[in-house]
Amino acid sequence: MARVRQPPGPAMTLGSLRQLGIRGLIVSCRDPNCRHETTLGVDDYADETELPSFASMVCSKCGGDRVDVRPNWNEMKIKPPRDAPAGKGKR
Ligand SMILES: [Zn+2]
Repeated sequence: MARVRQPPGPAMTLGSLRQLGIRGLIVSCRDPNCRHETTLGVDDYADETELPSFASMVCSKCGGDRVDVRPNWNEMKIKPPRDAPAGKGKR
């Protein structure tokens, strides 16, 4: 009986990452002898492309098919957490 492990909730999509200013992914090989890491520009992919779909990529260095994909958080636009207006808002 095969069970697919999936995080709950909708998968992260490239569209939601773009809203954060992120236009690249970091793909890293999980082979401890390789640890190849590369960035992947995703400008050519559709907004609705889900991040997990990149996990089926193959390491370009060792050919291993176990890769980690994560957003390139370095590209995220840093916003100050407090950007509420100083005055009282009308509603
Ligand atoms: Zn590798």
